[in-house]
Amino acid sequence: MFYEGSIYRPPSEASSLILQVTVGCKHNQCTFCSMYMGKPYRQKTREEIMDIIEEGIALYPLAERIFLADGDALALDTQLLVDILKELYRRFHQLKRVGIYGGPLDILAKSPEELNLLKQHGLNIVYLGIESGSAKILSQIKKGVTPQEMIIAGQRIAASGILLSCTVISGIGGKEDSTEHALETAKVVSAIDPHYLGTLTLMLEPKAPLLRQVKAGNFQLLNPWEILQELELMIQNLNVTNCIYRSNHASNYLMLKAHLPEDKQTLLATLANVIEQNRSELLRPETWRGL
Ligand code: SF4
Repeated sequence: MFYEGSIYRPPSEASSLILQVTVGCKHNQCTFCSMYMGKPYRQKTREEIMDIIEEGIALYPLAERIFLADGDALALDTQLLVDILKELYRRFHQLKRVGIYGGPLDILAKSPEELNLLKQHGLNIVYLGIESGSAKILSQIKKGVTPQEMIIAGQRIAASGILLSCTVISGIGGKEDSTEHALETAKVVSAIDPHYLGTLTLMLEPKAPLLRQVKAGNFQLLNPWEILQELELMIQNLNVTNCIYRSNHASNYLMLKAHLPEDKQTLLATLANVIEQNRSELLRPETWRGL
């Protein structure tokens, strides 16, 4: 497939056919993120998108999963998204699942009825980056929404019946706001009660604006042990009802998986063991981490 610039997708979409229906990220302001810098946001035209579907059919006619990229594909007009979904299920005969990234502002711009329509036409999963539940941190990283807006966005997806996969970023509050990040993030995730939750660990690429603050001494990165302590505090305070939790992203120091709430105590015991016993042999080496 031909793609404009680098393509990003969630770890769980590794085997999906990726169709780039938008280019870049509409928001494109988060201070920790340089994924779409220098890639002005653009929505592809209906004709371009139908050509992309044609290309996908020619190359992967038996695709069972499709992921719609880039960062803000959910910002497309709802009727266009419905037409895309209809065409995908008409042309890909083995298709079982379609996923998409959804920024909180894009979700809030869609009514519950629009999201229900997308669900009816086979949009199966939306990936939402919560990053942090702290109002202070969300403002500092320029996420563009308040915790309350994030909760409404997440709950709106969950209420539509579309699966909701959320990510939060360990270390995004730096040393100064680590405790606040853990506690407030647990509150927001608990209020949203997503089907899937993933943690990433803060990594800053050279162009990320937050890196300038680190270099200026205004933001202290957490070391791996502080990251694990922060995660432990977040999980201690998490109250979800039916959530698959993963820390399988390449940025993480420790791979974890659990079904919450049943596995909460086991997960916490694992974390406590690694932290208290200083089990550094279980941690991903710094040089192996990636985005
Ligand atoms: S984190 Fe997501 S919303 Fe923020 S700039 Fe990056 S792609 Fe856009």
